[in-house]
Amino acid sequence: MNNNQLIRILISRCLLGDLCRYDGKILKHQFDTGILQNITIVPICPEVEMGLHVPRNKIRIVKYIDGDRLIQTETNIDLTSMFNKWCDKYVSTLMTIDGCILKSKSPSCGIADCKYYDSADSEIEIGRVSGFFSRKIFQMNIPQINEADFFNLEKRDLFLKLVYHRCNLRVLQQFAYVLTYFPQCD
Ligand code: SF4
Repeated sequence: MNNNQLIRILISRCLLGDLCRYDGKILKHQFDTGILQNITIVPICPEVEMGLHVPRNKIRIVKYIDGDRLIQTETNIDLTSMFNKWCDKYVSTLMTIDGCILKSKSPSCGIADCKYYDSADSEIEIGRVSGFFSRKIFQMNIPQINEADFFNLEKRDLFLKLVYHRCNLRVLQQFAYVLTYFPQCD
């Protein structure tokens, strides 16, 4: 087994051509996973995993006094606690992830480039922020990059260095755990 086989990279499912987008369409420009040879790919669509259907109403990030919320625009339904509940359950899977390649501009997966509003029905953006899932990844210190930046050589190199580093650390920790709890038998 070479080092690559130990690395686990999580990828937004729509980037792989899965039918999980809000509009029920397959993404035109899919991510070519050829470059990730021998790396274990873990596909994820946070919006489908949290229980939303395909197709579904669009969601957006809205600023409230007590914090940002994920709001379904046409219904005005607040999906924040639904997302948080799912995410709390999913956290244990994230412990074994070394890096994430996430779809840009999505209110769930986007990294620092999602539209941000001050109300559910406003047409005026007040800035750009990270999606809710990307925020969780950031809190857990997992390296993340979007599909466009992955094809920028400098950004990709930095991302992959961080991924290798995290993987090495994770494997060493597992090894230390085994040594601690399963001491050598005579
Ligand atoms: S961007 Fe993320 S949440 Fe949206 S369809 Fe793709 S994987 Fe699902």
